[in-house]
Amino acid sequence: MWRVELDRLPTCMALKIRNCNFGSLMCGLCNNEEETVEHLFCSCTMAMDVWYHVGVWCKSPSVFLFDIKDIFELHKMTGFCKERRSTFKGIVSITWWILWKTRNDTVFNKEKPNIEKIVQNIKDLSFLWYRVKKKKDVITWDKWCCFDIV
Ligand SMILES: [Zn+2]
Repeated sequence: MWRVELDRLPTCMALKIRNCNFGSLMCGLCNNEEETVEHLFCSCTMAMDVWYHVGVWCKSPSVFLFDIKDIFELHKMTGFCKERRSTFKGIVSITWWILWKTRNDTVFNKEKPNIEKIVQNIKDLSFLWYRVKKKKDVITWDKWCCFDIV
């Protein structure tokens, strides 16, 4: 996230601006538009689908992202209590990471991105993160899958 905030994520367009050309400039997830940070995390159809499913899972209000800054502020717009808001902020960070990792797997390992798999990876990794953060078994997998926390 800090690399995104500093505009230092090596997307295809960012590399082109730095005179590093590796072929296609198209988005690694959807292959429909040029890959910029804003496209990859906000307007990409794959990313929008993932944000939708994360929002439904976490029972947050509808997610509309127009700019990268909207993602940094997303947890503040949920109306959640402090504990849920903090957890949701962590899930948003993990969602960014999984989207970027999926993009890299698609570009470099020729894997086909799959919405269900991406959302499942977000749930899996965030469950582990939450349990480590809480330092004890405070939640079951079934409750986590319903975002039934505190
Ligand atoms: Zn895309």
